[in-house]
Amino acid sequence: MRPAERFTAALGAAMVIGGWVWSAGTTDAADQVGAVALAGGGVVAGGAAAVIGTSGRWRTVARARTVALAALREALPTHPPTTAPVRQVTVAGGTWTHLSTCLLVRGKRTRASRSGRPGPPCPVCGGGAGA
Ligand SMILES: [Zn+2]
Repeated sequence: MRPAERFTAALGAAMVIGGWVWSAGTTDAADQVGAVALAGGGVVAGGAAAVIGTSGRWRTVARARTVALAALREALPTHPPTTAPVRQVTVAGGTWTHLSTCLLVRGKRTRASRSGRPGPPCPVCGGGAGA
């Protein structure tokens, strides 16, 4: 929990406790409106701290996942040793142009890519773009 989130959560808790203490001394409902508003503001502040903290953790996880996937992409061989010639192919129903050695087309029905109108290059293998 970052300092700003910790401060907001503590402020929310203090507002709830303050509202409770304020309203505890009176039985008149009209006198308790301000106390209830203070406590309600505390609940909102505490909720905001929770949402900000959770979204921050999600951003951290997403950033770590992106870095890990980039490292994995660098580590994966895009052109495994093979004796067959590498061709540009497309998967039936797909639009990306892959190399025939791409991991995303392994085990799928493919057809040779039309050289005149190739689809967008596969983000994993590059689809032979620039080759
Ligand atoms: Zn591919």
